[in-house]
Amino acid sequence: MLKNEVISDKMTVPKELMEILACPKCKGDVKEKGMFILCEQCDLAYPVIDEDIPDMLIDDAWNLEKAKKTGFEHDLEL
Ligand SMILES: [Zn+2]
Repeated sequence: MLKNEVISDKMTVPKELMEILACPKCKGDVKEKGMFILCEQCDLAYPVIDEDIPDMLIDDAWNLEKAKKTGFEHDLEL
């Protein structure tokens, strides 16, 4: 809980929304990282639009490699 609060200033998607979000492909848990919602099971990164609207369409998702190469590695911390 404390850890979540420490990084909360980087998080833009409302906590209530994150709690109900799931990966549309595997229905698993996702987590927010920088400007993406990540599913580590599927290696997919769903972009966050307008800072607080997650685009949870599989067709719009980036793979994690692409997300890293496109300059979000400092946010992804992978
Ligand atoms: Zn998934």
